[in-house]
Amino acid sequence: MQVYVEKTKCTGCAHCHDNCPVSVFEMKDRSGSDVNADSAPEAEQWKGTTSPDVIAKWGSKEDGHNHFADKYDGKSGGISVAVNGPSCIMCQACLIECEGECIVITDDSGTVYHSIYE
Ligand code: SF4
Ligand code: SF4
Repeated sequence: MQVYVEKTKCTGCAHCHDNCPVSVFEMKDRSGSDVNADSAPEAEQWKGTTSPDVIAKWGSKEDGHNHFADKYDGKSGGISVAVNGPSCIMCQACLIECEGECIVITDDSGTVYHSIYE
């Protein structure tokens, strides 16, 4: 299984980190050197700018999350990195909990799944 996060759309909500049963995701400091340590293609790596559409949707939401914080505070607000993609068991928890709709999983047969937030 290959897993990556489209970094330009990640809100830092940490739902993936909190719900994945096999610890595929780690929350990273947005300014850290390891923020692109997954298999995201070049265009989806973090370069310091979040999608305007995602900020418009989530930037002012008062839902208990620390969206788009500059630093990971231990709970939310950082950026998610799929550091352990091969351990994914395709439980789909992250695919339905991702605010930014920015998780992409490719299974062993090559089928690609994108997260859709409900
Ligand atoms: S689908 Fe994979 S990466 Fe997502 S929560 Fe389940 S095990 Fe973790
Ligand atoms: S659930 Fe999605 S938006 Fe939230 S931290 Fe994980 S990848 Fe980012």
